[in-house]
Amino acid sequence: MLKEQAAPLSGYAALMLEHASTAMALFDTDELCLLAANRSFQSLLEPPWRQGQALGHPLTEVLPSAAHTGLVAQFRRVIEGGVSSHVEAVAVPTSFMEVPSWHGILDPVREQGQVTAVLLTVVAITDQALAQKTVQPVDLSSPHEAWEREQQRLRYVETILLSMRHASAPRTLAQEVLGALHTCFSPQLLAFYSAEPEHHVLSLLASHVQEPLQHVASIFPVRIALENDRTPFMEAIQQQGPLITSVSRHRAVDQEDRLLALPGVQCVVYVPLWHQRCEGIVVAAFGSMAEATDLLLPPLSACAPHLGEALADARQRTATAEEQQRLHTVLDQLPEGIVLVEARTGRIRYANPAAARLLGCALPQLLGVSLNRSALLSPYGLKGRSQQSAFRWNFALIHALWGKHVTNQEIIVTRPNGEEIVVLSSAAPVRGPGGFITEAVLVFQDITTLKQLEQQKSEFFAVANHELRTPLTTIMGFMELLQLHPPGEIDAFYRCAIESITGECEHLSRLIHDLLDVTRLEYARLEVKRDSLDFLGLVRQVVSTYRQTQSTHRLQFHLEAIGPTDRLFGQFDALRVQQIVHNLLSNAMKYSPTGTEIEVGVRPSYERQEVVLWVKDQGSGIDADDLPHIFERFYRAEKSDRSITGFGIGLYVSRELVQAHGGRIWVESSLDQGSIFFVAFPLGKAHLVSS
Ligand code: ADP
Repeated sequence: MLKEQAAPLSGYAALMLEHASTAMALFDTDELCLLAANRSFQSLLEPPWRQGQALGHPLTEVLPSAAHTGLVAQFRRVIEGGVSSHVEAVAVPTSFMEVPSWHGILDPVREQGQVTAVLLTVVAITDQALAQKTVQPVDLSSPHEAWEREQQRLRYVETILLSMRHASAPRTLAQEVLGALHTCFSPQLLAFYSAEPEHHVLSLLASHVQEPLQHVASIFPVRIALENDRTPFMEAIQQQGPLITSVSRHRAVDQEDRLLALPGVQCVVYVPLWHQRCEGIVVAAFGSMAEATDLLLPPLSACAPHLGEALADARQRTATAEEQQRLHTVLDQLPEGIVLVEARTGRIRYANPAAARLLGCALPQLLGVSLNRSALLSPYGLKGRSQQSAFRWNFALIHALWGKHVTNQEIIVTRPNGEEIVVLSSAAPVRGPGGFITEAVLVFQDITTLKQLEQQKSEFFAVANHELRTPLTTIMGFMELLQLHPPGEIDAFYRCAIESITGECEHLSRLIHDLLDVTRLEYARLEVKRDSLDFLGLVRQVVSTYRQTQSTHRLQFHLEAIGPTDRLFGQFDALRVQQIVHNLLSNAMKYSPTGTEIEVGVRPSYERQEVVLWVKDQGSGIDADDLPHIFERFYRAEKSDRSITGFGIGLYVSRELVQAHGGRIWVESSLDQGSIFFVAFPLGKAHLVSS
């Protein structure tokens, strides 16, 4: 049946269409009759249908195999759906469809909204491929051979696709694919480039060079700029389909192809890998055209979109993994503990080293642990109270998995060794792209020291309140009594009152000084002003003042390796040295029973060029647990008599002052065995002056 032909095209448009290298044909929508076809299209038909013979005839007559290969059905879908459709080369295995690089597109043509015709554009018939077809006409008379070829093509496709299976990174993907291509086709050269359109470059991921060409240096550049649009790379990308360059044909065009200049290379195939955009390009060079077009091109073209997708995927995965790695590196450095729990499994997906350290367990013990209680507890071996505390930080995460935010919650964590720490923790849900909670994150920091300090401070203020009030009450009481007492000659009462007032005032002033020193130390403003002074003289002064003012203890002054009138010179701040001796002496009195002996001793050590002072008492002594801490600020021994008041700053200030002199301070003591406090000060070169 002959259908009326489309109105003939006129003018330049007609001329252009007629001579375009792209084959185009217009079909009607009823019986799919050929309404118009340009010269390129007609040249593709079987000879009896050329030179306009096909016009007006239905598709099934012009391309007899269209009916059983699905092309007719595809036409119908385009007419019904009104949407363009790609036609693969495999759809119609006529002689022209055997051209390996054939791709077509079916476009609906509309008039007033109705699809009135379908335009078939054969978009990727390369000249080379057509020429190849003429050189090596396919013998369709042998269906067995065609079948075998198809079988082989499918085997190649399978091999290429299987090679992509385990590749997770672009580079391994490229290596695997090139490995498969090499096994199947053994080309002389193979290269796999990844495209970075945003940077206008192609980057070499993998390459393979056969024996005779291996000595040729840098056959494949590592980076190719996509600016020069005359390179075969760029051409292949622009035409969105395979490009073949060869020595035998199109020499003028192919002069751009450096690879053709290599010995033995006859033909180079460039297959762009498309997945929404050009993801990469595979290049293969052969010694003959047939190897490229008959063997490599059909399976590689079929795999190209999948390769493009796999490459895009691998790139995405690598970028995500790299991003995650970067993030983990940062998180690993943070001093705060961070735990990430997967919502799907309830398991700890990530924990940083700080988290493991704070929770007192090894990092591998933490990873993969389920939030469900039993699973969480067993790896820590937590028992009793610790179960509660583990559950509490667990709880913050569970809250977050329910979409709630937990902010600055103080939680007591008991480590597997029973040690307790206070952590300040916050937890929040992490949402995925759809707004669903995918993870929960817990951030926590150790605030134990802060908490202890807070407690020490409040204890300190309670003590300070008492310590400062007591002497003031005594002073004020005596002052009131003095006001009531009639003035007269200084009697015994007067003397006693004035002595008490003076004593309390001194005590008060020492307390205030100590407090000021602590503040100065906090702001690093404590200074020592050193002069060349006699150490022995300074100590002797303090001891004799004590002897005159106190009668509660027996005070012994003991000198070793030095005469009583000798002098020991060094660089000292007189007031500070006396403050140190005073602190040690007053502690010895405070912490030992009335009537016991206190020994103050001095011993120069000539080899070490230092002088050692000691204060020894027969008092309560210090428990071994407290010993390492007694020089800390605000520290008061746990096991000491709590009825003896104090600030816990005397020894701290003393240690700071000794160190400012370049000296050392230490203690030897045990509970109920008395204590000896030692201080060593450096001496000057000519330190000993004997009288
Ligand atoms: P405080 O004002 O509490 O005496 P210090 O800093 O002088 O503060 O001393 C710190 C702690 O060391 C004291 O609370 C006490 O427990 C212990 N200590 C100091 N000197 C002696 C000592 N001679 N004998 C026993 N314990 C002492």
